Amino acid sequence: MLLSLACNGATLYEGARLITGDGSAPIEDAAFIVSDGKFTQVGNRGALSLPADIQRVNLAGKTVIPGLIDTHTHIGYDRYSYIDSDWTRNDPTGRGFFNFGAHNFTRDNILDHLSRLAYAGIVATWSAGYEFGEVPHQIRDEVLAGQHPNAARYYSAGPGITTKQAIVPYLARQSAFGVSSEAEARAAVQRLASWNVKQIKMWPHYNPTMPMNVSLALIDEAKKYDLRVGFHPVNQSDSEAYIRAGADIYLHPIYPIDSDLVKERRPFSALTSSGYRMAFFAPYLHSPDPLLADMISPFHLKKLQGKFPSTNSEERIQSKAQWDAQVSTIRDLRANGVRFALGSDAGGAGRDKPVGWSAHVDMENMVAAGFTPNEVITAATQTSAQSLRLDDLGGIAPGKEAAFVVLDANPLDDITNTRKISQVFIRGKAIDRDGLKANWRKSWGSE
Ligand SMILES: [Zn+2]
Repeated sequence: MLLSLACNGATLYEGARLITGDGSAPIEDAAFIVSDGKFTQVGNRGALSLPADIQRVNLAGKTVIPGLIDTHTHIGYDRYSYIDSDWTRNDPTGRGFFNFGAHNFTRDNILDHLSRLAYAGIVATWSAGYEFGEVPHQIRDEVLAGQHPNAARYYSAGPGITTKQAIVPYLARQSAFGVSSEAEARAAVQRLASWNVKQIKMWPHYNPTMPMNVSLALIDEAKKYDLRVGFHPVNQSDSEAYIRAGADIYLHPIYPIDSDLVKERRPFSALTSSGYRMAFFAPYLHSPDPLLADMISPFHLKKLQGKFPSTNSEERIQSKAQWDAQVSTIRDLRANGVRFALGSDAGGAGRDKPVGWSAHVDMENMVAAGFTPNEVITAATQTSAQSLRLDDLGGIAPGKEAAFVVLDANPLDDITNTRKISQVFIRGKAIDRDGLKANWRKSWGSE
């Protein structure tokens, strides 16, 4: 039996296969010690020096991986207690559930999403824009202070920065700062810095694209505050100009990038493929994966089953062609040194990419794009932590936070085994997965 221990004494976890997140071979029959919410020793069973009165937890037969980090989500909009009548409430100018209006971005929703991430083994996320006001930053600080023990850490880009024309009330970027001059771009960055945002989001966007001098002023201002800049690419040459100016994170790997520039700057990226690959590949919907079935209502699941894979063969063929093109771009970007992290683009207002679950889909897609399972786990832990500059997460090593996932099966055999979650630990304590699941079932009337 697994125990979660409330006391501050040291605990020895022994017997598991341990994947540390740094790409090395797994440690079979491993042992690690957790004390005061941190890893203090990690190694082979029998090789650690044990403090007196240590508590022991036997993890024989399990595999332990570091807590996962989803570097690209859109938290706070989707509701997972959907009922039939909600589904038709999609008035783009009104109070519908499926739009980016402020009425959908609530504290309760944000906290629910953070607990969904944690349930799925994700211990931190960066939400890439769409946030309203100061609530997200308050919740970020509350989670860091330990006030929400079942929640993943929540970092966000705040509202994001885009052009005035790219703000479409209720539908897109409603909360964003719309800028058309260098002064406005700098002022928006300063506002974000005042909220202690560490990484910002730039949507240069289409028709018209943000003037290059405005984009470059934005990046320049961000660098003054030591903020990382994630940008939505709109074409190759502009993307290259942003990276040359110091932008750090290439949010969707759509375009090839000059290989010398990539080799020099080594930007981060993520696949964010969990949504569109579903149009032709979604076996987990039709023999529902147990983790997914835990997290969305039977009604919601039925809606997704009806939609994916697309019944429109044209759309399926197109999606497959887009995916294949993307895979070849990803291979080139990787070969040149782009640092791929885990990013699902989950959430938003579309209900197709459930928060928490979608990260596991992206990990499966990474294998389909040529990563080995161990490379995927490194991307989803060590590289993702580096991308968000979270030095105390992203691995199982002395000094790091004891944020880890206990799996019932080995993800090196099959990456979809990351879904077979036995327990999730944050700060050395098991989160209450049974309680979360029971509440969700109640919310959709299953119990
Ligand atoms: Zn996104």
